[in-house]
Amino acid sequence: ATADIGGPTIFDKIIAKEIPSNVVYEDEKVLAFRDINPQAPVHVLVIPKVRDGLTGLDKAEPRHVEILGYLLYAAKIVAEKEGIAEGYRVVINNGPKGCQSVYHLHLHVLGGRQMTWPAG
Ligand code: 5GP
Repeated sequence: ATADIGGPTIFDKIIAKEIPSNVVYEDEKVLAFRDINPQAPVHVLVIPKVRDGLTGLDKAEPRHVEILGYLLYAAKIVAEKEGIAEGYRVVINNGPKGCQSVYHLHLHVLGGRQMTWPAG
């Protein structure tokens, strides 16, 4: 993955519905949709509809605290809707060494199988 320069990402087109996605949950603040390359039976991405500089978690500022908390809450809603509330994983990949590939902050919600730790 290359480092972010703050330009548009594929997620802008997904938010704008210019390219299709399989939406699991949506409200005024966040969009949750299925990952195109799922790493588990349930693999949903939860993103803020407005990036506001949050290319990655490393760019978090005090003004982002509310949306950061809301993203976690939305992850819980997604897990319930997907029927995986008994066990799931929420991941944020940050930066090239964190294997981040899309520079619009997103939570991965993974479940539907036994997860292992620390990888997989
Ligand atoms: P990252 O590697 O940045 O943590 O996660 C980016 C995720 O976005 C990857 O898991 C990748 O499969 C997913 N992704 C990339 N492009 C698209 C797309 O066009 N549609 C959907 N649904 N997922 C995408």
